[in-house]
Amino acid sequence: MKATNLPLSLCTVALSLSSASADGPFYGDPPDAHHPWAVHDMNRPQPPIVVPGTFSTQAEPGKPPSDAIVIFDGTQTSIDQNLVMDPKRKDPNKKWVLVDGALQCTPGAGTVKSKAEFGDCQLHIEWAAPTAIVGKSQGRGNSGVFFVDGATEVQVLDNYNNPSYADGMAGSVYGVMPPMANALRAPGEWQVYDIIFRRPIYQNGKQVEPGRVTVFMNGVVVQDSTPLEGGGGHRGRSKARPFKEKGPLQLQDHGNPIRFRNIWYRPLRLRPAEGGTDGRLSQEAALAKRQETAASIREDAATKEGKDKMFRLFESLCYAPHAETLAAATAMSVAYVGELKAAEKDALEKRKGEVMYARQAFDYLTKHEFVPADFTGKREIEAIIEAQGWNNKR
Ligand code: MG
Repeated sequence: MKATNLPLSLCTVALSLSSASADGPFYGDPPDAHHPWAVHDMNRPQPPIVVPGTFSTQAEPGKPPSDAIVIFDGTQTSIDQNLVMDPKRKDPNKKWVLVDGALQCTPGAGTVKSKAEFGDCQLHIEWAAPTAIVGKSQGRGNSGVFFVDGATEVQVLDNYNNPSYADGMAGSVYGVMPPMANALRAPGEWQVYDIIFRRPIYQNGKQVEPGRVTVFMNGVVVQDSTPLEGGGGHRGRSKARPFKEKGPLQLQDHGNPIRFRNIWYRPLRLRPAEGGTDGRLSQEAALAKRQETAASIREDAATKEGKDKMFRLFESLCYAPHAETLAAATAMSVAYVGELKAAEKDALEKRKGEVMYARQAFDYLTKHEFVPADFTGKREIEAIIEAQGWNNKR
């Protein structure tokens, strides 16, 4: 293909897509036993709008996205309002403290927890090991990000030129899985973790989802949907088990003055196994959602007239059968096609787009058996299009 032809051919593709009503119903494959939505379904709810945040630099933390729940934003207020010091610490004077806009562990202060309790989430957290190198292996720059009240730890450790056991290195699921890479910056520099945490799901005592964690370390993926295998821990081989649905985030005091900044999370959508209403659902859930959508479209149809009402009623049948609606829509289609047949050729020419759309709708309804085999609309609208000569025009 010549380069000069490209814009024209792209244009043709765009036109043919729009004439096929990609934004309307009667287009993608319809809902099925496990999917409550058609492919490319405009009835499917729109995702909420989120204003993205900004990336951090070494000098400054970035801004969280607009819907993030902020745990620590560099202020004493966020420490006071959002965090709880360990009530069992031996010395109550030891606390995690604010140092130059960062939350710093005071050795002996114990674990700090978020007041917020949450489960599945996207967590953003940044940390920096002390610049002065003290200790080696697990003794250098050790802390940890614990989900659901300590159920599993994504390790924080200064492994920059500091080997340790692989399943305990920075970015490991501690005691379960080493990171895929060591993408750490030098101690003193800010390290960025972006973590997607999914707890295990049990039904009737049986595990249906193992729980998974994905971790990006400074933009490098180091855990890729890693199964949690019970969450891990120190020395002991963990056994698969349910986690609490929600719990606080914990940051570990491992005796090193680690700093944290820019801590926020976003809850994730429910999975089908925990009552989510999107994606591949159980037959019961898909059917319930389809019936709900069909009812809502029928309600909307009741506010419309003429062909708009007819198309909307037919559309509802793509989600759930409804004898009364089928009868009403079919009667309307008979009247509609009759009216088209009675129209003058020139007058019909001005309605070409509408008629071609009706053909698309009737083809779709017939192909997917939402109307019975003796549905006459499809045949009659074909005859009208043939008579107008629209099948021959390019
Ligand atoms: Mg640790």
